[in-house]
Amino acid sequence: MSTPVSRTIVFTNAVEGAERPASMPPRSTLTGCPWRDVKSMLRDVGLRPTRQRMALGWILFGKGDRHVTAEMLYEEAVKAKVPVSLATVYNTLHQFTDVGLLRQVAVDGSKTYFDTNVSQHHHFFIEGENDLLDIPDTDVVVGRTPIPPEGYEIARVDVVVRLRRKPR
Ligand SMILES: [Zn+2]
Repeated sequence: MSTPVSRTIVFTNAVEGAERPASMPPRSTLTGCPWRDVKSMLRDVGLRPTRQRMALGWILFGKGDRHVTAEMLYEEAVKAKVPVSLATVYNTLHQFTDVGLLRQVAVDGSKTYFDTNVSQHHHFFIEGENDLLDIPDTDVVVGRTPIPPEGYEIARVDVVVRLRRKPR
């Protein structure tokens, strides 16, 4: 495995107490049938299971934990012959994030990944390959965190460890 060369600590979602994101969906209740799972997943978080949400949810959550960008999901939807626009994919990803089905991982200014694993964990980002890998939460010890501005609390700390290939 390559050696981490630098570390970016990103503090996100320093929201006010009242607006904290919804808690994790109850995944233990899933039935193992992706289509029905997606439907109950959406219902559990109060989203109407429209055809587009169902189709995108099925593509997103049917393959285990992964990280996708709006463009990646759009491409998969096109391949699966799901009639959606990139804007709809984008909106749906944000709706899913708002209700706690997805976690947003901002890697740099231009790239936002959506993570189907909403549990606390951190990421390796492989520069040049644009690939995100999970780091278990227990493998990263976050030191002293800064004091947030008046009226805010730290919602969570995301660590992105950026990797590059070692020169040969
Ligand atoms: Zn992840």
